[in-house]
Amino acid sequence: MAQVSPQSIDAPDSQSVRILWRDGHESLYLNRFLRLACPCAACVNEWTGERTVREADIPADVRPLSWHLVGNYALSIGFSDGHDTGIYSFELLRKLCPCPACHPSAH
Ligand SMILES: [Zn+2]
Ligand SMILES: [Zn+2]
Repeated sequence: MAQVSPQSIDAPDSQSVRILWRDGHESLYLNRFLRLACPCAACVNEWTGERTVREADIPADVRPLSWHLVGNYALSIGFSDGHDTGIYSFELLRKLCPCPACHPSAH
């Protein structure tokens, strides 16, 4: 399957980040959800895959302050809690999309 890349990324409100994909799909992520899903080595144990970032450690009002594209495969996000090492591949972001169309079994 061809890699789908974001067409635009914005913050529609103070709670969330929206990605419009080139295939027309729209994903809306809660800021805190994105922060908790951070795939970097400080948040996930590289050996066991265990998530080491704790929900209690993340401020309730955490939000992305900046983001930029990494090559043509990922998005780097800098969060308001000072965490900026997360590289979210487009593939991961699509997997994380919380919409019902992406998670038919959960609804
Ligand atoms: Zn991280
Ligand atoms: Zn979706």
